[in-house]
Amino acid sequence: MDYKLWIDGRWADSQGGSCMAVENPATGQVIAEVIDASRADVDAAVQAAHRAFYDGRWSQLTPAERSLAIWRLADLLEQRAEDFARLESDNTGKPFQAVSLGADLPACVDNLRFFATAARDTHGHNAGEYLKGFTSIYRKEPVGVVGQITPWNYPLMMAIWKIGPALAAGCTIVLKPAPTTPLTTLLLAELIAEAGIPDGVVNIVTGGNDTGQALVEHPNVRMVSLTGSTNTGKKIMKTAADTLKRVHLELGGKAPFIVFDDVDIENIAAVATLTGTFNTGQDCTASTRVYVEKSRYKDATEAIVEAMRNVKIGLPYDDDVQMGPLISRIQRERVQGFVERAKASGAQVLTGGGIPAGRADGYYFEPTVIVNADQQSEIIQSEVFGPVLTINTFDSEAEAVRLGNDVQYGLAASVWTKDVGRAMRLAAQLEFGTVWVNDHIPLASEAPHGGFKQSGFGKDLSAEAVADYKITKHVMVKNA
Ligand code: NAD
Repeated sequence: MDYKLWIDGRWADSQGGSCMAVENPATGQVIAEVIDASRADVDAAVQAAHRAFYDGRWSQLTPAERSLAIWRLADLLEQRAEDFARLESDNTGKPFQAVSLGADLPACVDNLRFFATAARDTHGHNAGEYLKGFTSIYRKEPVGVVGQITPWNYPLMMAIWKIGPALAAGCTIVLKPAPTTPLTTLLLAELIAEAGIPDGVVNIVTGGNDTGQALVEHPNVRMVSLTGSTNTGKKIMKTAADTLKRVHLELGGKAPFIVFDDVDIENIAAVATLTGTFNTGQDCTASTRVYVEKSRYKDATEAIVEAMRNVKIGLPYDDDVQMGPLISRIQRERVQGFVERAKASGAQVLTGGGIPAGRADGYYFEPTVIVNADQQSEIIQSEVFGPVLTINTFDSEAEAVRLGNDVQYGLAASVWTKDVGRAMRLAAQLEFGTVWVNDHIPLASEAPHGGFKQSGFGKDLSAEAVADYKITKHVMVKNA
């Protein structure tokens, strides 16, 4: 496959851009080169999306026609699932069977089928007589050209979460994947054409942060949707202010995992470990801060340490592998830095904290458990994005809520208790976009996913995501 830019329904050479190497993080080997797109490339992609939007080749199709094309894309992705899963594992190091093929691809197909259905939803498209002699009609129109920017942790799934609702709404798109993981997004381009989505409706420009910046600055882009870190979200919001674009930001997280004394400790240890090491902890909703009611702290800590030590680390195609590498050398240095600074500030590492034995190639890092970290310390307050759990205690329900909420982030949290009343009280008081009770991490295409506080705003998934890509026009008709 020739990795160029996907502009106006065909592969395009760069105008003045350079090249970027793409690695397999499980081996550290370069597996591809892609274009680091220039400002001129971004402009060409935006102009294609602009033409495609204003001639109505997508926005003026009926919802049924748009829905059918999105559904065809889901079918094509399902047929090619193995190819996509293989490329995703080669580009990210994710376990092939358990994650890429077993979890990510089925979710992507289901997400697309949901958005195909949501394209035909007429909920909220109202008309009525609110002033005597007039009929008010609310037209829900697509926002226009949207710039979409994705991170490296779930490259294909994040691309689907972006294009699915924007296509359902009738927008046209310029999508920029993360520089480290562009390959499955590029592979999606030809499926988009095969599904019958017209040329110019989805354009893909690869590149680094400057390419993203050029997209955010472009005056013909009406809205920017980012999934990325909180710092990038802040920069994008500032840049978008110059042209007063809408912004839609899915940012970092630091999920608390709150364990009351009435739970099955083996179960919570298994789930905390699974959800703290799934995707090598590079998940915005990963369990990161475990808070255990004091009477169960010792049991819980022992069980979690044991479970973390038993996580099977390996190459994507190894049998029964549960955890792959971090995405890059830089990310591993970041994670290592967090752990070292936690130790220097008096916290204690009970297991992990370094490179696993025999894994000098690739960017592997051990599942790590840290205790005795101060609530205000960096390891508790900042997103690590690696397989690192902290464990702390609480004495009362009020303290559990206070500690859970005491970070800048607000993406996801979980509460573990058999007491339904207590679970409901915490669900109301925790300031997070998702609160799970007695589980952590599952998602449904129908359910909104998004942050509170500095985890951003706007929703991915659900009918709310489609609504985010629409703008309301009021048409007022005089009846007499
Ligand atoms: P990142 O913020 O470094 O980069 C994300 C994307 O933004 C990349 O494509 C990057 O090139 C681009 N970018 C960076 N600076 C830019 C700028 N100034 N202008 C325009 N584009 C710019 O994030 P990452 O390291 O790739 O991904 C990890 C982050 O993503 C974590 O913080 C994680 O929590 C977050 N994330 C959030 C969700 C969610 O749903 N809230 C989901 C997945 C990941």
